[in-house]
Amino acid sequence: MRPSRALDSYPTLDRFMTDDARASSTPPTVVTVPPFEAGDRGGRPSLPFSVLAKPTGAACNLDCTYCFFLSKEVLYDADGQRMTEAGLESYLVNLLTSQPDGPVEIAWQGGEPTMRGLAFFRRAVELAEQLRHPKQVVSHSLQTNGTLLDDDWGEFLAEHRFLVGLSVDGPAHLHDAYRVNKAGRATHKQVMRGHEILTRHRVDYNILCTVHAANQDHGREVYRFFRDDLGARHVQFIPIVERVTQEQLPIAEQGWKDGSGTRILYRQQGDAVTSRSVSPAAWGEFLVEVFDEWLQHDVGTVFVQHFDVMLGNALGQYSMCVHAPECGSALAVEHNGDVYSCDHYVEPGYRLGNVATTSFQGMLQSAEQREFGRTKRTSLPQQCVECPVKWACEGGCPKDRFDRTPSGEPGLNHLCEGYFRFFSHAEPTIRAMADEIAPTLR
Ligand code: SF4
Ligand code: SF4
Repeated sequence: MRPSRALDSYPTLDRFMTDDARASSTPPTVVTVPPFEAGDRGGRPSLPFSVLAKPTGAACNLDCTYCFFLSKEVLYDADGQRMTEAGLESYLVNLLTSQPDGPVEIAWQGGEPTMRGLAFFRRAVELAEQLRHPKQVVSHSLQTNGTLLDDDWGEFLAEHRFLVGLSVDGPAHLHDAYRVNKAGRATHKQVMRGHEILTRHRVDYNILCTVHAANQDHGREVYRFFRDDLGARHVQFIPIVERVTQEQLPIAEQGWKDGSGTRILYRQQGDAVTSRSVSPAAWGEFLVEVFDEWLQHDVGTVFVQHFDVMLGNALGQYSMCVHAPECGSALAVEHNGDVYSCDHYVEPGYRLGNVATTSFQGMLQSAEQREFGRTKRTSLPQQCVECPVKWACEGGCPKDRFDRTPSGEPGLNHLCEGYFRFFSHAEPTIRAMADEIAPTLR
């Protein structure tokens, strides 16, 4: 998941705002949704897509218990997970050649990307400026756990206007349940130091909060902590669903390591979940609690990705692959240049090629990737097809579709109950907001 900005629509939502919000409302940056149709603009490719690149692969300085991404290190030699400078150049040449004119985002995540060092990112910014097409406007983003940030990082991120996604799971007693370091110790204090660096240097940031068994019953508390204690204005919530087979479950429960401490490779398979995973009902209640708090106090001043996404869907503007009818335009690039269908499918069977040998447009338009994206729509069970909130949900992410419907049909999203609860609850308000905004978009 990458940090994102909110829909530029709140100034027209005057009647939903508090007086304070109306006075201080400033429009955030618009999210444009990649169309699925390829076209041509003056010989430049025009199929926008996004890429999450991992300069240190899955390597991370922390050891969050629910982080199945860490297990991806077994795909590659764990010690050699560093994108080289030649690899960086090859990646950026391919990316900037394949992207159309207009805004291009260069997004970094991991593992923990800051482990690759500041010099690497300085070079990335410099190269992007040299390699971009004159009509491309490059922006940078970075997803981080925040623990390695210092003033040099703060200055750099502010100077180059990075959008930073900072992972925080709430106040210390909730955050530290699973977000621990290699010694199993709490990390909240270090993350707060990282947050302080970002705010002091006025770096644009989003909070990325995973929702799991430890914080799932504390939606309002978590949200208030972000808003009131951190002063956050952009928040994203990500449900933790650690899907496993019954055989893998005991190993997964120990943090994805077997008895000898060796990691096992996480794959999208099985129909069990770990005890750390968010429960479907709690996921719905969490979002409902946050929505009600937001609606009462924060329309136009705090931007919560799920609410923006729902509003976008009501207006026919899909801004998040999970809740769009189709997906397949969000690729992942490993440290060695290998490209995968999606960040959640970095596993054998979903490798599309390598940046050194195949263009991104070629990989995006390959039969396998088109099929990957289309399947999100074509594999929906009948329950979703007939669902009254399908317009907002679109069946969720295929990685989580491993339950059966009451009639026994496979492919129902594990979080269905929660999605249905939240989208049904928010629908009247979001529809009313969409009605206010729609005339301004014509
Ligand atoms: S599988 Fe599709 S919907 Fe899920 S995260 Fe990947 S691109 Fe998005
Ligand atoms: S709420 Fe449930 S039934 Fe409705 S579209 Fe979403 S996953 Fe399908």
